[in-house]
Amino acid sequence: MTALELIIDLHKNSERQGPGSEKETLKALELINPPPDQKLKVADIGCGSGGQTITLAKNINGQIIAVDLFPEFLEELNKKSRELELANKIITLVKSMDDLPFGKEEFDIIWSEGAIYNIGFASGIKKWKDYLKVGGYLAVSELTWITDSRPKEIEDFWKREYPEVDTASNKIKLLEDEDYSLVGYFYLTQDSWIENYYKPLEARFEAFLKRHEDSELARKIVNDHKAEIDLYLKYKDYYSYGFYIAQKN
Ligand code: SAH
Repeated sequence: MTALELIIDLHKNSERQGPGSEKETLKALELINPPPDQKLKVADIGCGSGGQTITLAKNINGQIIAVDLFPEFLEELNKKSRELELANKIITLVKSMDDLPFGKEEFDIIWSEGAIYNIGFASGIKKWKDYLKVGGYLAVSELTWITDSRPKEIEDFWKREYPEVDTASNKIKLLEDEDYSLVGYFYLTQDSWIENYYKPLEARFEAFLKRHEDSELARKIVNDHKAEIDLYLKYKDYYSYGFYIAQKN
């Protein structure tokens, strides 16, 4: 197995593939406050196994196209949506977020939790704007510094891993430069990282290593994840995922 296949295997049997929570998905949705009688067309980009997709499907009137690059995650989402009888509201699509087959001004809402970094925030908000109706909403979560300055160790780590990491004010400026108006901003709580993401992830390490016979590559992947968790625990007061809700002008 390649490193990528192993990473997918480590992450696929989980509620989420990144920090987040049902409560915060709903908080972002409340800021949009869609009229209950309007049938919405929503895209959920980089949906993973669809933690937030299910929450959206339960709480909106309309249809969600849930997109991810990896079919393994979408199979999990399809299984869940059938079990919850939400399959009529969720269509899954294997596609890369930088090559979407969508039409101009097709969507009322574009959602993306913890995934836009794959093509970069600046590029993503620009590309995806075309698919949004005028007056439509973008709701994205993105790695964000939550203080004005921070220790060098964490600054260097994230600058290397994700050079676009920045403060909320700079991210909001990028949205405004692309002609979106900010409707709301908040950042994810530490529970969304620790209880909802890192703890369940750690709980899967042992079985994962066993499944892959303690291979060198499997061990490296676990160690990389552990290092990321340790850094989070050390520096959690300096960064989170910011949730940006913005309307296309
Ligand atoms: N939204 C989910 C998953 C976030 S993890 C959650 O919050 O739990 C990031 C997701 O982006 C993963 O599911 C990964 O498979 C997906 N991804 C990575 N590169 C992608 C690309 N180029 N196009 C579409 N999805 C991609």
